[in-house]
Amino acid sequence: MSQFKSGFIAIMGRPNVGKSTLMNQLVGEKVAIISHKPQTTRHQIRGILNGDDYQMVFIDTPGLHKPKSRLGEFMVKSALSALEEVDAAIVVVDASEEIGTGDRAAIESLKDTKTPVVLVLNKIEKIEKNQLLALIDVFQGIPYIREIIPMSALKGDGAEDLLKVLESFLEEGPKYFPEDMYTDQPERVIVAEMIREKTLHLLRDEIPHGIGVEILSMEQIREDMVEIHANLMCERQSHKPIIIGKRGSMLKEIGTKSRHDMEKLLGSRINLQLWVKVVPDWRNKTAIMRDLGYHEG
Ligand code: GDP
Ligand code: MG
Repeated sequence: MSQFKSGFIAIMGRPNVGKSTLMNQLVGEKVAIISHKPQTTRHQIRGILNGDDYQMVFIDTPGLHKPKSRLGEFMVKSALSALEEVDAAIVVVDASEEIGTGDRAAIESLKDTKTPVVLVLNKIEKIEKNQLLALIDVFQGIPYIREIIPMSALKGDGAEDLLKVLESFLEEGPKYFPEDMYTDQPERVIVAEMIREKTLHLLRDEIPHGIGVEILSMEQIREDMVEIHANLMCERQSHKPIIIGKRGSMLKEIGTKSRHDMEKLLGSRINLQLWVKVVPDWRNKTAIMRDLGYHEG
């Protein structure tokens, strides 16, 4: 019997190359569009593909946005380290257009990662065979590109080849998400994101590796009141007092600001309980889950 395999796969590439179309082609209706503010997340789920004996979780990383601010710079750094946590990275380029600086930046940003890189040459039905061959030639020499997959995301050509390659990068692992998870979870994800965003704004200089947010519970306790319990996870004991602040002032500010956003989102009063927890390895693979607001088990 074969083991169940699973993994996280980052999808990258400049706007308009066909990332969303590719996602739709791979996972169909099950695409989850979650975030209202993608720039502030380390990982954003694009979609989940449930095979017979595998699960692929496709995520966005914000790594390719040109940083315009210190927060942006932080996110880029954070995205690059996030790339080390995934099982494969797909870079999509538009084969029917000149390969530009945006494409090159996307590809080069993967140069030093240990994560296997797959290059998707998309929109190939728009070009001649010899153009495609020339393009393949250009990229063939790049040592850190493990596979080059010509595709038409629009028509579905190449999708099977891509999936086969991706499957080969998956490792034995759990089914991270139940197949029907998209019932109440997106709110949980957004809630985690709101807290994360506040911590980034308020603590960006103090906490070098950022903070993970773990939503422990989210429960409607009265008709007009939702109670949310969340952990802020940091890597070091020394970060804890910084996050808590003088007499709890920082934690209180994070909580108050997050709560205002949540009340707008959920249209309900919120009782938000935040704790700070030292989790040295929260940034490993299962941390992706916590980071997204999913609690194990
Ligand atoms: P994203 O910004 O990378 O997510 O790109 P989208 O998936 O939104 O696609 C941008 C545009 O390219 C849309 O008009 C798509 O219909 C089109 N597109 C995507 N894939 C293909 C393809 O394989 N062939 C062609 N001809 N158009 C495509
Ligand atoms: Mg898109």
